[in-house]
Amino acid sequence: MPDRSFLNWPFFEERHRQLADQLDAWCAKNLPVDHHDVDAACRELVAKLGRDGWLKPTALDTDNPGPLDVRTLCITRETLARHDGLADFSFAMQGLGTGALSLFGTPEQQHWLDQTRAGKAISAFALSEPRSGSDVANMEMTATRDGDDYLLTGEKTWISNGGIANLYIVFARTAEAPGAKGISAFIVPAATAGLSIAERLETIAPHPLARLSFDNARVPASALIGKPGDGFRIAMSVLDVFRSTVGAAALGFARRALDESVSRAAERELFGAPMADLQMVQGHIADMALDVDAAALLVYRAAWTKDMGAPRVTREAAMAKLFATDRAQEVIDTAVQLHGGDGVRKDHIVESLYREIRALRIYEGASDVQKVVIARQVMGAA
Ligand SMILES: Cc1cc2nc3c(=O)[nH]c(=O)nc-3n(C[C@H](O)[C@H](O)[C@H](O)COP(=O)(O)OP(=O)(O)OC[C@H]3O[C@@H](n4cnc5c(N)ncnc54)[C@H](O)[C@@H]3O)c2cc1C
Repeated sequence: MPDRSFLNWPFFEERHRQLADQLDAWCAKNLPVDHHDVDAACRELVAKLGRDGWLKPTALDTDNPGPLDVRTLCITRETLARHDGLADFSFAMQGLGTGALSLFGTPEQQHWLDQTRAGKAISAFALSEPRSGSDVANMEMTATRDGDDYLLTGEKTWISNGGIANLYIVFARTAEAPGAKGISAFIVPAATAGLSIAERLETIAPHPLARLSFDNARVPASALIGKPGDGFRIAMSVLDVFRSTVGAAALGFARRALDESVSRAAERELFGAPMADLQMVQGHIADMALDVDAAALLVYRAAWTKDMGAPRVTREAAMAKLFATDRAQEVIDTAVQLHGGDGVRKDHIVESLYREIRALRIYEGASDVQKVVIARQVMGAA
């Protein structure tokens, strides 16, 4: 039984505790889904999560607008990740993909949100390019004004939901200024002529991922989110909301690894006694529990701070993401070790966690980048 005591921390309200319980029960009934065809699995997950109302917190409710509740996003990601990494992915992408619309869209543009919150449309966030991942401001893709339209030309890569998304939020250079100040954000429906899937990408933990090609893809000027040149600020604001939720997903994976290890240590006999009697094993369990609690404190501190109205949580979110993802990697590695040969058996739960966790230390700002961000915040405040 996973430790639920963190839900009594002062970061949470009763509605968060209820959500955690109800979602956990839903997950026990509905997850995991069959992962063999990841596109089909993700379509099914988005449809099911939407049908049962779990996608509502991912985006602005246009009938009752208010800020996104980051604690709800984090509890949901943590819970889904504990049950099924692909379910967490499907939930998270509905939020990341539409974040620019929730935060900066016009009412006309926000019509997409009713569909994504209901699981009737799938969204994607297209920022990275082959030559600009960490160095976002160096992007090359262009958006050129042509009468009442923009023409988008270039490539995006590592785009989650690439190939199954109905809408892409695409960042491109409109050249108002060099570097970060010359980037704008656009809504690009998947059916747009000139947009194609150049390559599907396979990774150690399969998810729908693609490299996208844009060849004079025409979108109306009304597809521009915010003003020309706002794109970099929009992307960073979206990441400011969602970055701590990556830490929450890592926390869910780590918690599952800890739970599996505790069960294993209780059930397995070694040298005529339960494995749990070995003090070295107890030492590993203690280290894992410490990492899990410390990660949870950082993740929910960041989420709470944002929910309390902080305009930016750059430092808190970077710390939460860096610590939770790095420590989850260590916790899961220990879980593999404690499972012996079973730990590396294909599709054993700890083997799949071992593959699932790795990319979280790379996307939405690699661990090294988070360190740079934290150092700048700390030194800037000194
Ligand atoms: C599974 C997965 C899903 C993804 N989904 C999306 C998505 O939906 N949308 C999207 O736009 N992108 C997505 N990405 C792309 C992701 O954001 C980039 O991979 C990431 O930003 C790193 O960029 P890069 O791969 O170009 O590596 P590089 O930028 O080449 O960086 C490589 C390494 O260099 C080091 N490094 C980089 N910068 C610094 C620095 N300033 N100081 C010190 N060290 C540094 C880090 O160790 C980093 O890992 C996804 C990536 C993966 C793996």
